[in-house]
Amino acid sequence: MIDVEKIKEDFPILKRKFYGKRLVYLDSAATAQKPIQVIRGVSKFYRYYNANVHRGSYKLAEESTELYESSRESVAKFINAEDSSEIIFTRNTTESINFVALTWALQNIKKNDHILVSELEHHSNLVPWIMLAKRNGALLDYIKVDKRVGSLDYESLEENLKKNPKIVAVSQCSNVLGNVVDVKSIVKKAHEHGAKVLVDGAQSVPHMPVDVRDINADFLAFSGHKMLAYTGIGVLYAKREILENTEPLFGGGEMIQSVGYQNFTLNDIPWRFEAGTPNIEGAVSMKFAIDYLSKIGMKNVEEHERMLADYTIEKMQNIKNVNIYGPLEKGKHSGIVSFSINKVHPHDISTIFDKQGITIRAGHHCAMPLVVNILSEPAVARMSFYIYNDERDIDAAINAINIVKQKFNVL
Ligand code: PMP
Repeated sequence: MIDVEKIKEDFPILKRKFYGKRLVYLDSAATAQKPIQVIRGVSKFYRYYNANVHRGSYKLAEESTELYESSRESVAKFINAEDSSEIIFTRNTTESINFVALTWALQNIKKNDHILVSELEHHSNLVPWIMLAKRNGALLDYIKVDKRVGSLDYESLEENLKKNPKIVAVSQCSNVLGNVVDVKSIVKKAHEHGAKVLVDGAQSVPHMPVDVRDINADFLAFSGHKMLAYTGIGVLYAKREILENTEPLFGGGEMIQSVGYQNFTLNDIPWRFEAGTPNIEGAVSMKFAIDYLSKIGMKNVEEHERMLADYTIEKMQNIKNVNIYGPLEKGKHSGIVSFSINKVHPHDISTIFDKQGITIRAGHHCAMPLVVNILSEPAVARMSFYIYNDERDIDAAINAINIVKQKFNVL
């Protein structure tokens, strides 16, 4: 069980008021708020430990390097990677996926090879593959989605796997439908066809236990800012043997062992993939965020959000003219619930929620193929939860839905 009252106290921003109402933050799928422990941790880093990493041979630089590398170890442990050399720090999920597309994929996928994604994907896990296909003449295929329950259509997966794609790139949790995809079985099937698998963990790693070795994914991408850490830090996990055989994307300081006039030799992994001064404060924030989440326990985080989603759906199902997207069955949603109200544009819903101090997101949620083509909506409204939300926040949202309906005369 999570003590939300106590957790709320750790998030200074939740003390703010908007239009005289307490802030009810229901947009954690976009970015999560930061607990004071993370803010203080980074502040302490700047007050006492700041120096560039992997460069100076003085004590201060050794300490900052130690902090930076211990953060990498925290991340490795958090997702149960074999060791921290499989963890590359990036800016965010988007950069992690682009990195794979521009390195391993560009080096291994050739003209007429197949790339397989799903119709559920965020643009971050689509556009890099579209770009790659345009660049090297590869062919991009889509696993179909069952829009009622949000799950991937396994027949369509099997059909597409017959084309022996070089890579399958799927998200573990949809940022629109809130369903959790069984990536473990996708990885198993894809491996049988010789494909590598990239898992977009942007909406899963912050919200549930993710064991990358159990899933057996070849790549896992996620963002720090969605899991209580700072913006500008992201992670790419990749299997050691893949990294050992992949050329780096950027050249510069830190990624080399030695440099001559015409040539250079590479540093070990993972540093060969981190050219230039990295985002040290971001990495440090990641360590404090992981400490905070681990204390609560990821299983508890997952159960709490599922409980909130079930509670929300149960309440919303009783309201006329409200449509909920994704699975309706109990226990199937992560902490994301997308909805619409008949005859009301989602942007109007969001504006009226805002006047109640409630932040929700309206739009295509960077998943246009899913929202526009499959749900056949120009936009949907989305509530998303985290450890600092409780039933009171949901009740406030339900009340706001009723206010929207009254204002627009939708009875
Ligand atoms: N994938 C999914 C499923 C997401 O929800 C998001 C963020 N909305 C991203 C990728 C991209 O994350 P970022 O903007 O941090 O790169």
